[in-house]
Amino acid sequence: MEDYSTFALSETERDGGQILLCRTYAYSDITVELLNYDEDLMSRSIPVKEFSGVLTSVTELTHDIRLLKVELEKPLKFWAGQFVELGVPSAGVTRSYSMASTPGTPNQLEFIIRKYPEGAFSSLLDTTLTPGTAVTVKGPFGTCLRREGRPGPMLLVGGGSGMSPLWSILQDHIASGEQRPIRFFYGGRAKRDLFMLEEFAAIAKSLPDFQFIPVLSQAGPDDAWTGETGFVHEALKRIMGEQQLSGEIDAYACGPVPMVDAALLVLQELGVDPSNTHADKFTPASATAPNLAH
Ligand SMILES: Cc1cc2nc3c(=O)[nH]c(=O)nc-3n(C[C@H](O)[C@H](O)[C@H](O)COP(=O)(O)OP(=O)(O)OC[C@H]3O[C@@H](n4cnc5c(N)ncnc54)[C@H](O)[C@@H]3O)c2cc1C
Repeated sequence: MEDYSTFALSETERDGGQILLCRTYAYSDITVELLNYDEDLMSRSIPVKEFSGVLTSVTELTHDIRLLKVELEKPLKFWAGQFVELGVPSAGVTRSYSMASTPGTPNQLEFIIRKYPEGAFSSLLDTTLTPGTAVTVKGPFGTCLRREGRPGPMLLVGGGSGMSPLWSILQDHIASGEQRPIRFFYGGRAKRDLFMLEEFAAIAKSLPDFQFIPVLSQAGPDDAWTGETGFVHEALKRIMGEQQLSGEIDAYACGPVPMVDAALLVLQELGVDPSNTHADKFTPASATAPNLAH
């Protein structure tokens, strides 16, 4: 294996014999056993291609989250929930970002990106990344994509910029016209971390059985918060335990690694079939090697 992020493969996982195929070279013939082979997923695979594009706008959603819009020279075919490698050639940096837009607008991509003050890519958001900046896009990647034609409840669980793929999945679901109960759990620290609340209120009015459940872990007196508190996985466990929705659930969890790990454990406890559980952990690229691209 070449250099890799310890966020992607912990020492315990490595000692248990796990490897990262994306960082591994085979020097002789190997036999690969496909576990949990998903025929539906395989039939939806899309060849990875490279695109060039231009940044058309950067909008402030919260104090540290931005909405980025990119216009591509040719359409990118993808499924809601997938991600691409977004590059800024003038800054020499590439990072993985999930589309917030839907496959219905394959030339106009949107991304919800969280700023890290020291981040090689995200710190450029309010400086170098201005409308007109040339970008590259490579993809699509990822298996956390919306499964179609499921009658049971859909669970969306996210925090921070984990909103990006979940918003795409939700919009794609709405556009499909399918009807199913939806519970969307979203975690933030304080009220200032929440955004698109008006859009969620409008969706709640238009869909028959939809609940958006924001959960704040550090709400202060100034927040005057009367909603759910604690960590998002705790609210997920409590509320889903109380609601006892009937039907086979499929679940999507996206965002920071610890949040997704905690949510996956709760989903297991709630009895969601692992084959119906889909997740993308927003693993930092530079935990061990500063310029390592995904
Ligand atoms: C499959 C996938 C999909 C992703 N989708 C999105 C998305 O839709 N939106 C989005 O905002 N991000 C997403 N990410 C994360 C993204 O790829 C970058 O890792 C992130 O934007 C930080 O990159 P950077 O260059 O700004 O920071 P880097 O230069 O890579 O890191 C600099 C420092 O910032 C801090 N930092 C960076 N990332 C994190 C983190 N996740 N948690 C805690 N501290 C961190 C650390 O201190 C780090 O040392 C995704 C990641 C993956 C793997």
